[in-house]
Amino acid sequence: MGERQPELGGVWKRVVVVGGGVAGSLIAKTLQFNADVTLVDPKDYFEIPYASLRSKVEPAFAERSVIYHKDYLTNGRLIVGKAISISNSQVLTSEGHQISYDYLVVATGHSGSFPRTRRERLTEFRTEHEEIRSADSILIVGGGPVGVELAAEIAFDFPQKKVTLVHEGSRLMEFIGAKAAVKALQWLKSRRVEVMLRQSIDLDNLSEESKTFETSSGESIRADRLFVCTGNPPASDWLRETFLKDSIDRFGNVKVDENLRVKGYKNVFAVGDITDVKEIKQGYFAQQQALVAAKNLKVLMEGGQERKMAIYKASPGKIIVSLGRQDAVAQFQYSTWIGLVPGMIKSKDLFVGKTRKKLGLDPRIADR
Ligand SMILES: Cc1cc2nc3c(=O)[nH]c(=O)nc-3n(C[C@H](O)[C@H](O)[C@H](O)COP(=O)(O)OP(=O)(O)OC[C@H]3O[C@@H](n4cnc5c(N)ncnc54)[C@H](O)[C@@H]3O)c2cc1C
Repeated sequence: MGERQPELGGVWKRVVVVGGGVAGSLIAKTLQFNADVTLVDPKDYFEIPYASLRSKVEPAFAERSVIYHKDYLTNGRLIVGKAISISNSQVLTSEGHQISYDYLVVATGHSGSFPRTRRERLTEFRTEHEEIRSADSILIVGGGPVGVELAAEIAFDFPQKKVTLVHEGSRLMEFIGAKAAVKALQWLKSRRVEVMLRQSIDLDNLSEESKTFETSSGESIRADRLFVCTGNPPASDWLRETFLKDSIDRFGNVKVDENLRVKGYKNVFAVGDITDVKEIKQGYFAQQQALVAAKNLKVLMEGGQERKMAIYKASPGKIIVSLGRQDAVAQFQYSTWIGLVPGMIKSKDLFVGKTRKKLGLDPRIADR
């Protein structure tokens, strides 16, 4: 770490990035030779979230998609810990670190709980794989994109298993068009996945060893393994007692301006799923936001005028939901596709190589 400071003397500004996910990892990597960067994340690794479902059926897949932060953050500082509060000059972590900043980037995405080390995460995938392999029947609760992709992964790799998908909505994946949802439903049915719509499972009253699950309409489902894919809220609770408390909207998102600064603050940015930008929450957009915010931070750190900052424009997303290893359903602005063509874009590599490349890593090989 001998080269942390600027080559020609001077002192770098301190940038603290809270959250080492899709957006936070990219912004930290992009700024590490322009600023004194500290990344705060509860894990010693960055995980590509859109690869996590494949890793449950093929644990070796995680070797490229679960990446040590130190592999791309070669000139920055990593604090493994959870941010629990901030003042207008410091970030406080659960382990008692107090990290001073000139610029703060909030990139905490959605809440969730993951093992602390890469090694533990890889072990967790191996355990889940073994549980899927040894189960005869699997129940997935939640028919959003995550539940659908997981059902498809299992149905594709383990066609002999009985897979049931329970969803409380009247159709799958309500956030995309009905046409795409119907195509996904047909695909799942063709692979013998039983899809139960307009039904729910009371998740608050389950016992650990329960193998029989009752739906809201009184039907009984037998399953050896349960996966809950009902989504998580934005990870903004840690800001609720801080000076940013009024910057959180009613959905838990952080309100940003067109330059991706938290509204009303000159040195605080927010990027990725945590922001209130009006677009679908997607990794691609999280990366685009990270690059715009990084550019704006460079302008400010170099003493440039605020009007030189880039503007982030929300765009309509193209959505691709993978269906196993070959197929996918895709919704573009004017058309919906299913099958091998959208599958070729996403389903084989799940954007793992592309994401690694953006972090300056070899797209094909994991370092260890
Ligand atoms: C199964 C699945 C499939 C998906 N498929 C696609 C797809 O095909 N295409 C696509 O574009 N997008 C996809 N997405 C969405 C995409 O993954 C998200 O939009 C993206 O991860 C958002 O990036 P982010 O950096 O905002 O948040 P995240 O990537 O969620 O990162 C947030 C980080 O903040 C950390 N954190 C949280 N709280 C704290 C705290 N208090 N202190 C410190 N750190 C904290 C977390 O540990 C995490 O590392 C998918 C998501 C999932 C789960």
